[in-house]
Amino acid sequence: MPRQPRVAIIGAGMSGICTAAKLRQAGMTDFVIYEKTGEVGGTWRENTYPGLSCDVPSRYYSYTFAPNPDWTRVFSPGPEIHAYLRRVARELEIVPHVRFNTEVAEAEWLADRSVWRLGTKDGEEREFDFIVSAAGVLHHPRTPDIPGLDEFAGAAFHSARWDHSVPLDGKRVAVIGNGSTGVQITTALAPRCASYKMFSRTPQWVMPIANPRYSRLSRALLRRFPALNRAWGRVGYKFWQQVFEKSFCQAVIRPGWQRRLLTAICRLHLLRLRDPELRRRMRPADQPMCKRMIFASGFYSKFARGQAELVDSPIERVTERGILTADGTLHELDVIALATGFHAHAYLQPIELVGQDGLRLSKVWSDEPRGYRTVALPGFPNFFLLLGPHSPIGNQSLFMITETQVDYALRWIDRWRRGEFTAAAPREDAAETFNAELRTAYPSTIWTSGCDSWYIGKDGLPALWPFTPQAHRDMLATPRPTEWHLTGAA
Ligand code: NAP
Repeated sequence: MPRQPRVAIIGAGMSGICTAAKLRQAGMTDFVIYEKTGEVGGTWRENTYPGLSCDVPSRYYSYTFAPNPDWTRVFSPGPEIHAYLRRVARELEIVPHVRFNTEVAEAEWLADRSVWRLGTKDGEEREFDFIVSAAGVLHHPRTPDIPGLDEFAGAAFHSARWDHSVPLDGKRVAVIGNGSTGVQITTALAPRCASYKMFSRTPQWVMPIANPRYSRLSRALLRRFPALNRAWGRVGYKFWQQVFEKSFCQAVIRPGWQRRLLTAICRLHLLRLRDPELRRRMRPADQPMCKRMIFASGFYSKFARGQAELVDSPIERVTERGILTADGTLHELDVIALATGFHAHAYLQPIELVGQDGLRLSKVWSDEPRGYRTVALPGFPNFFLLLGPHSPIGNQSLFMITETQVDYALRWIDRWRRGEFTAAAPREDAAETFNAELRTAYPSTIWTSGCDSWYIGKDGLPALWPFTPQAHRDMLATPRPTEWHLTGAA
């Protein structure tokens, strides 16, 4: 009879639900998901801004084990994705395992007994054989340090903390930031406002996408016939995976026809702006895909039709009445939305993890987060990271990546169940070799072609996977025990 591991999962978002589902599938039910809020869904619970949607097709942006018959469009709106995650968590009986409104404060490895002692903010303590971090990547909103922001008399909030009590229709609204979030907000919101201004510091490339609806009939058929839903889900998943992996994923990691083609599409798309002056102001100086690519249709038309106004004079300060720019204009406003991104390298913060010999994660990662093969950390046994540093995130299906990483963690947990070890952590030299391999690959990626983005860490390098997604899957297809310290083999 294999041993039953006690597993703590941090976070009930997409990765946490995936871990729980796969543990259950493998017959392991002694797990707890710690969720600091009162609801599952992670980023799709937290983000509720107007126009929220996902720019990865939903048939691919979903679990392979839970194809969804109900997607209404190729690229789904955010609330549909959140509803999907809630339904999966409910139907796969994951919800009873979630400790809602319970924030993990710290975890310490107790080497004498090969267990983790995990402590919550409420002071509760519990022991586990494994910890899986599913705490997410874009989790901590970055509020800009703009002088006077708190003097503003209207409403100002971050895009990930949207205040739905604030009226928008017929108001004077501004968004600061023109990343994926700022573009989605602008496209959805501009036509509703009395005036709408997008404050842009650095122009960004935008790739057009069509977003057709799925017919009611096709949805009804998929719902009625689960075998058809499973088969069609597999086909859709594979199709979109191929599209992304053969085009976009190649384009970002090395020069070639894919990069030239996607660059040409972005440049052509910009021509939708007929006004040469506006086109000049919205033309980025960097290469398409250097920053995370934005997919959107209907964005430029909001400016062309005069529904949105571009403000590219630098922001000097916020006053009681609005935003003062360097050209001396005071833009009077009722609402300011801060689409200013996230602290993307604050993985796991503020949880303090204490590994072997008192090793503190905050110290290990004081320069820049890095680990072993995107999933583990030297000195932190029986600990797995999902969507951790250097995972193939960016314009990708994070569902696909997290499933690969959870399967990998489960292979190790399975070995533990068979008594092959009590504690396993990657070797420091194996992690070093892995990180050196990453560094040699970055120069041919588009991310290092001369732009600033949330991909880039303090060390000036992107915290991304510079190879193909297939290479990531191959790397994690089997554990490599020679790269690990194993103790306590039976
Ligand atoms: P972001 O890409 O980091 O963009 C932040 C924007 O705010 C940039 O335009 C930045 O300008 C601007 N900004 C920051 N501080 C500023 C300041 N002090 N003054 C003026 N402008 C300032 O953030 P995001 O748009 O929230 O997107 C983050 C990520 O979330 C995306 O890249 C994507 O991975 C994910 N996302 C995904 C989807 C999806 O459909 N899948 C949708 C939304 C978001 P600079 O460029 O000059 O720094």
